[in-house]
Amino acid sequence: MIKADPFAQLKLLDVQAVDSRLAQLHHQRASLPQIAELARLAEERTTVDNRARDARIEVEDLSTEQRKADADVEQVRTRRTRDQQRVESGQVTNPKDLERIQHEMVSLERRIASLEDSELEIMEKLEEAQGRLDAHTAELAELDATVATLTAERDARWAEIDAELAAGEAERAPLTDDLPADLLALYDKIRDQRGGVGAAAIHRRECQGCRLSIDNAELAVIRKAGVDTVLRCEECSRILVRTGESGL
Ligand SMILES: [Zn+2]
Repeated sequence: MIKADPFAQLKLLDVQAVDSRLAQLHHQRASLPQIAELARLAEERTTVDNRARDARIEVEDLSTEQRKADADVEQVRTRRTRDQQRVESGQVTNPKDLERIQHEMVSLERRIASLEDSELEIMEKLEEAQGRLDAHTAELAELDATVATLTAERDARWAEIDAELAAGEAERAPLTDDLPADLLALYDKIRDQRGGVGAAAIHRRECQGCRLSIDNAELAVIRKAGVDTVLRCEECSRILVRTGESGL
């Protein structure tokens, strides 16, 4: 058991008040609603970004397909035009040749129609994929704007909390300066083990640390103890500080 001046013991309650406030501020800092929301948005952004990437690949593939289909149609059209020019020029005089060319022109016409059909199909798919890509891109821009707003909000709250923390630390320093080293060490150790509370007042025969009443046998021990005896709660082992309202 360590001994300490009763004024030093009382001062421990002031230190505890500052420490509780600091702990609360640290908790607030780590649990701002913006932090959880930003984490959720980051996940959502990854999902949307993946969808946008898939759509972009689809658009690129379909664009290549479309260029190829265009070239195919163009090639057959050129051939049909050449045939037509040959017929119209009157160069082909042999009726068999003429018939063959006319036959080919009919089949080229059919081929053009079929190629144009698949060209149209590709264009429709491309339009649909481009629409999805545009929607995802817009969604990403919207998400980024929300993230920027929330980040700014979070940083502003952090700056406020950090200022309060700095003020609390500045308040704590002069309080602990005068405390005996062994008392402060004991307090810090218990505070560390007991959820941030190392010292508690006895208020109306109750430990303010664990809120349990002190039994009669223990009260008798406390009453007999010298004022400089550093008391500990039997239930929660925190340092018990006697005040004018302890009811002893
Ligand atoms: Zn207790």
